Amino acid sequence: MKKQLEYVDSILRSDPLKAYEMVLDFKEKIQDIELKVEAKILEARALIVMSRVSEAVKIADELLAMINKHGFDEKKTTAYNIIGTIQFEFINYDKALEAYMKGLANIKAYPDTDTEAMILNNIGDIYNHLEMLDEALNYFYMSLDLAKENEFHSLVGICQLNLAEVHFKKGEFETALDQIRLAINYFSTEEDYIGISHAHYSIGKIYKTIGNYEEAKSELNLSITIMRRLHEKHTLIQAYELMIEILIDEKAYNDALEYVEDAMQISKILANKKGFGDIALHAANIYEIQENLVEAIKYYKMFAETRETYEKDIEEEHQKNIDAQINIEKAMHEKEIYRLKNVELRKKTDEIQKLYEDMNTINAISQDITSTLDIRKILYVLYENINKLMDATLFGIFLYDEKKQKLSTDLMLQYGEPLEAIELDIEDESSIIAWVVREKEAIFTENFSSEKEKYKKDFDRNNLGHNSKSIIAIPLMIQEKVVGVMTVQSSNESAYNSYHFNLLMTLASHIAIAIKNSQESLKLSTEIKERIKTQNKLEVLNEKLSHMSYIDALTNIPNRRSFVDYFTRELHRAKRQQELVSLLIIDIDFFKEYNDNYGHVEGDKCLFLVASLLKRALKREIDFVARYGGDEFVAVLSNVDYDGALQVAEEMTYNIKDHAIEHTYSPIEDIITITIGGYSVIPSNDMTMEQIIHNADNALYVAKDKGRNQISFYNDME
Ligand code: GH3
Ligand code: MG
Repeated sequence: MKKQLEYVDSILRSDPLKAYEMVLDFKEKIQDIELKVEAKILEARALIVMSRVSEAVKIADELLAMINKHGFDEKKTTAYNIIGTIQFEFINYDKALEAYMKGLANIKAYPDTDTEAMILNNIGDIYNHLEMLDEALNYFYMSLDLAKENEFHSLVGICQLNLAEVHFKKGEFETALDQIRLAINYFSTEEDYIGISHAHYSIGKIYKTIGNYEEAKSELNLSITIMRRLHEKHTLIQAYELMIEILIDEKAYNDALEYVEDAMQISKILANKKGFGDIALHAANIYEIQENLVEAIKYYKMFAETRETYEKDIEEEHQKNIDAQINIEKAMHEKEIYRLKNVELRKKTDEIQKLYEDMNTINAISQDITSTLDIRKILYVLYENINKLMDATLFGIFLYDEKKQKLSTDLMLQYGEPLEAIELDIEDESSIIAWVVREKEAIFTENFSSEKEKYKKDFDRNNLGHNSKSIIAIPLMIQEKVVGVMTVQSSNESAYNSYHFNLLMTLASHIAIAIKNSQESLKLSTEIKERIKTQNKLEVLNEKLSHMSYIDALTNIPNRRSFVDYFTRELHRAKRQQELVSLLIIDIDFFKEYNDNYGHVEGDKCLFLVASLLKRALKREIDFVARYGGDEFVAVLSNVDYDGALQVAEEMTYNIKDHAIEHTYSPIEDIITITIGGYSVIPSNDMTMEQIIHNADNALYVAKDKGRNQISFYNDME
């Protein structure tokens, strides 16, 4: 039995579902209480690997109860590690840290190097998520050393991947790549395919960032293939996203679309709103480029709807992060921290106490600013709060426009009053703010004049902050991108200390998020407005287009195509209801002579006039007249008897004559006249439209033959 549990342990990461099912099976058969505890540990771990965290909570509780009841104190470390990991998954970083600390404390009494190494790695993970990168590195390296010493191979791999991620975040790509390659070796000896697929994903991410797309694609493909086989959906989404981004960059739009459906489906299953929204946005952009506006709008809508809900989630998570940071600071202050070396604890105590208090202020500020989307409001909230904590003679935010490579100063305040806005070039050697953007590094100086050469070459050219002696300038970053710079300046020397600087550094990430939120919501709303505008325009155009294709441009009455449509329908109806339908063909007499003598322009005018006079002869809604072509017109008269049809024809002839359009070149009269051929019939089922037209046409030629200017009806009734 013990052997079987060891086997489960060995496949837990590579095939968690199988491991889980095996444990459930064993659980029933095991009598020995110690093995029962082991089985429960494996059950909880398998659930965590499968991201079924809510189920894991219950198992962890049962586990701890069992351990306490039977006094297996040496197992407590593992139980705390599991609880920590669950809390971590729930983004309760402070609770997670508390559990890990309890675990480490237990190790002092019951040494367990493997679990110790795991816990150290997990603590590193927390710091990594809180973007406290140096702390994270510290813990990951401690864990790595311990895991190596102990030949705990899969953990060595995991640690190295984690280290790689932190180095990546710090922009140290080569170190990151080295770590990942080492990790792959370790995963290979363990046949840990999940680890291997993560490693390839990480390499892909780095290659993408440094612009080596071919390598990135091949790494991501490898990773995607493995993850698909192992059903590792979480990282799969991220891999898909990177792939789509690369393909879009390469303009391989159709290739990118091939990943979209799968990716959206998986993110839906995982309830990963951010992934879902991001991918929908990519799809929308692609369709827009391809000018498929209908699809583009569909995906934009999906994006906008999802975004609204996940922004709330982000906000919550964000708040949790801040709370966690506060509590972690508190924990550091109140408790003895594991292996806390080289810390001048006494000196730090006061600082931390004050920091803790001001964390609460920051907390309040960041809540204020991240919930508003108006950038100017954000600025004033910040100014009010910061000015309370330090001397902010000059305070403001420079927004950085990466495309234009410019910084704008329209958010600068001097003594709380807005300064005139200017634009700064990022390459401007006279600006320390431009220096901050270029170097992605903060400036903190207590006496600027003695340090200025470091940042500026041409100091005197630029006046802004000319008199400042104390300067803090911090890049506002989101991931690796600078979105702006926040600066606080005073004309006094030594106006700020490291406490002020740290405070502003902590605020900076919140401000960056607030700025991005406000910019994106602005962009989004204009994008959506634009899209709606385009959509409306499209509809108007479409309507015009379909209108045009059914209306004769010269006479503005229905054209031949329209006639065919209408007559087909009417004929169908007449057949079904066995009603009389009449067709008139109307032709202008000697129109060629009119054209030849009065010219084409007058000819056109005449056609227009004749059309409107013919139309005027129709009295009922269902009567229909169209231009058939040239100087020929047709009229369809439904549900009217033969006499009624004849009457309409006479009315038409009368209208034209009454209008007396001069035509001195006509051999029969000196005005325009028309000849009409008509045909009325109750159509049999096999009668075609062509036959009816043919019969009416015959009648027309009879009338033309007889000398024009008359009506001839061919009538099946007679
Ligand atoms: P009939 O009495 O036998 O009908 O003689 P007609 O001259 O009216 O008949 P024909 O078919 O010989 O000539 C029709 C003329 O209509 C030919 C052409 O000059 C003129 N026409 C056809 N379409 C247009 C048009 O769109 N604009 C103008 N101005 N003239 C047209
Ligand atoms: Mg004619």
